Amino acid sequence: MARKPVNPLAEALKQSLDYEELTNCMRCGFCQPACPTFTETGIEAASPRGRIALMKAVADGLMEPDQAFKDQLDLCLGCRACEPVCPSDVKYGHLLEQARDTIEEYAEHRPQVKLVRTVMLKHVFPKQKLMKLVGAGLATYQKSGLRWVARNAGIMKLFPENLRQMERILPDATPRGVVERIGEHYPAKGEPIARVAMFRGCLMDVLFTETNVNTVKLLSEAGFEVVIPRTQNCCGALHAHSGEQELARELARKNIRAFREAGVDYIVSNAGGCGALLMEYDHLLKDDPAYAEDAKWFAERVKDVSEMLYDIGRVPSFREPGMNNGEEKALTITYQDSCHLRNVMRASNAPRKLMREVKNVRYVELKNADKCCGSAGTYNLVQPEMSTQILDHKMEHVKATDARYLLTSNPGCLLQMKLGIERESISGSMQALHLVDFLYDRLEKKETGATS
Ligand code: SF4
Ligand code: SF4
Repeated sequence: MARKPVNPLAEALKQSLDYEELTNCMRCGFCQPACPTFTETGIEAASPRGRIALMKAVADGLMEPDQAFKDQLDLCLGCRACEPVCPSDVKYGHLLEQARDTIEEYAEHRPQVKLVRTVMLKHVFPKQKLMKLVGAGLATYQKSGLRWVARNAGIMKLFPENLRQMERILPDATPRGVVERIGEHYPAKGEPIARVAMFRGCLMDVLFTETNVNTVKLLSEAGFEVVIPRTQNCCGALHAHSGEQELARELARKNIRAFREAGVDYIVSNAGGCGALLMEYDHLLKDDPAYAEDAKWFAERVKDVSEMLYDIGRVPSFREPGMNNGEEKALTITYQDSCHLRNVMRASNAPRKLMREVKNVRYVELKNADKCCGSAGTYNLVQPEMSTQILDHKMEHVKATDARYLLTSNPGCLLQMKLGIERESISGSMQALHLVDFLYDRLEKKETGATS
């Protein structure tokens, strides 16, 4: 009898998938209602339980890792909403990363896709100097009139609709990051509570520099001395979620060296997607004897800015400007969770408590705020249909809040919320903002120890 040919990907998945973690799933289905792709499709294979069953079937040799298998893993947002609700504490995110990393090793991309992945993941994101060049290029495009030409001469029509939409909501870019704006050190206001290091991010520092600056100033107001290590780089989240674990590990090692030297009590992130990976550096480098201990040191210190301000710092005083208590109708705000901030960093209370601190503001809880908005890193670019479906459903709940400001804590979520507002044509009555920017603009006293 002829022997079945060996499928190298199947063999590799058998080796890389954590079998014990796969068998931890007791198939209870508690994760199903939390999963956006299951809610949208109703298909078992598009649920956490279904995807774990598919991975286990491959690991057991019962099925081949065919295109349908890969499609279901690609459709997963990686939002990890299935983890906090799981009674068996299945680490789904780790299983997904193991599978994606292995699939990527055997992937045969089209030459254009391969080129874009290599340029962006290996050369641009890891090097802050190149990110700055990207920032300079984008700023030139936005301010020189090139954007006007691209839009009005129909050049943008050559791009797919999702890229055209993204281009419309992109904030103003700049090559001047937070260090160029305020230096590497910012003193605490009053008696210092702790010395903290700020993680500035890669895209964050090019597209949302003002948010980084405001983060430092808020930390200072709350009593923290802030340092911004210049040699830090991208966290590696995009790499880890795109099946490039080794590149993510390399970036993690560089960050650990940069922050170890800074000698700080906490490492502060203002982006849920980055913070979640920084917090898991210990897992990422668990098999690297030279870095495992330092990675643990690093991971234990990672906090979101909202936790620093509310749980550890002296909470500053915030007030909606131009309004006195009770004299005018309170401003309504709402909040969309960043999935990784909520499900991995488990920080969903501190942002809400901070918003409730702002005088003359009415906080309204957004229905299903804990469900992904469809942004999920590059998901809205590579899975535009599902991403748009999820976003449109999200916006139905957003509109029901009647809020003036829709706040969030991650750049990807913020762009997605801006996109939702644009798609619904409600930009005249609603604005999406990072929580940090909203709070900074409402600080009752803004005087801090250094210049901007
Ligand atoms: S909740 Fe956890 S144990 Fe239950 S089916 Fe989902 S992953 Fe498996
Ligand atoms: S990570 Fe999100 S999309 Fe993927 S299975 Fe879990 S809940 Fe569903």
